[in-house]
Amino acid sequence: MKILVVGSGGREHALAWKLAQSERIQMVYVAPGNGGTSLDPRLQNVDISDPVWLAQFAIKEHIALTVVGPEVPLAAGIVNIFREQGLKIFGPTKEAAQLESSKDFAKSFMKRHRIPTADYQTFSDPQAARKYINQKGAPIVIKADGLAAGKGVVVAMTVDEAHAAVDMMLSDNKLGDAGARVVIEEFLDGEEASFIVMVDGKHVLPLATSQDHKRLKDNDEGPNTGGMGAYSPAPIVTPSLHARIMREIINPTVLGMSKDGIPFTGFLYAGLMIDDKGNPKTLEFNCRMGDPETQPIMARLKTDLVTVMEHAVNGTLDEVELEWDRRTALGVVMAAAGYPDAPRKGDAITGIPAENPECVTFHAGTTMADGKLITSGGRVLCVVGLGDNVKMAQKHAYDAVEQIHFDGAQLRRDIGWRALKRHG
Ligand code: AMP
Repeated sequence: MKILVVGSGGREHALAWKLAQSERIQMVYVAPGNGGTSLDPRLQNVDISDPVWLAQFAIKEHIALTVVGPEVPLAAGIVNIFREQGLKIFGPTKEAAQLESSKDFAKSFMKRHRIPTADYQTFSDPQAARKYINQKGAPIVIKADGLAAGKGVVVAMTVDEAHAAVDMMLSDNKLGDAGARVVIEEFLDGEEASFIVMVDGKHVLPLATSQDHKRLKDNDEGPNTGGMGAYSPAPIVTPSLHARIMREIINPTVLGMSKDGIPFTGFLYAGLMIDDKGNPKTLEFNCRMGDPETQPIMARLKTDLVTVMEHAVNGTLDEVELEWDRRTALGVVMAAAGYPDAPRKGDAITGIPAENPECVTFHAGTTMADGKLITSGGRVLCVVGLGDNVKMAQKHAYDAVEQIHFDGAQLRRDIGWRALKRHG
């Protein structure tokens, strides 16, 4: 069986790596892939990015199933294009992907279906937006309506900062169309958690829990990034909180999408804020897996992912039970110099240890040039350690990190601190 994974990040490397472990796999293609996927003999990079051409490739190569990693091709309608050609693909349609591609769509959807989230209003007029901010005061959160590659959210601690965010998005048009409308919402305090499930239109299959680290520097300082590390499981999500999230957020979302005539298929990721009383609220939906959460989650998955994907595209996820490695998996992201603003490219990478039962390294911004592995993007590697507890997983990840070198590498030394604090 041949499978196609769309994307080039660490998330896609981890998905392809897991799919390729299936005995039923002949080849996993990754489009466009990265340096790491090009080095793995069970994977093959395909240099096509246009969804129409990818569908042609899938037909020609008799691809049984396609899995889409990132949000941009989903929002552009890759699932619609593949389905029109009768191809099996796991991901939401363009319409369903609006849960991520339009914050205004997601917020009005949540309001209509009574899914807990921050109070908000949407604006396209800067004057009206400023007036609303003056009324509400700070802290307050300004979000560009459209996809902005992680740059569309400003958590403003002062009214002046909030006004500046409105000016940047609505008046100065700095984010283009994505910022032509803004959602302004109530600031929520608490601890964040990622909750990721697979949805086949009707049935929901939760994946293992995980927690990301958004800030660039230790102690959650520095600018926001795509994510500097993640671990699974996340002890903040206790069994009773898990049940509540399913009951109050995930199930009503899947049911609501069906009722609205746009059934959701694909990975559904709820970014949650858990307040100090343990109440969950939805910060955002993503219609794909998280990066870097995917890396530790895939490192722990024991069930054959190909079989799971088949159930997912055939609408029978209710027949699947997932088995997880009981150990903790903890991924440390190594990012390029200058990340997140202006990542430097072209630094030689050396010393990545061979995969072993306690450690696996997933590539993101890497490429092969003249037979050498070099950096080619912001987040370069995600080094995942596995261990009987968070401390051991952390040790295995950081032991591997010590062996890896590229000039200017940036990384956090405290991935997993919340889980360690929780366990004392
Ligand atoms: P989003 O893309 O909507 O998840 O926002 C990115 C990040 O901004 C989140 O991971 C939070 O750290 C922060 N954030 C978003 N919305 C809020 C909010 N209402 N209150 C506090 N922080 C928020």
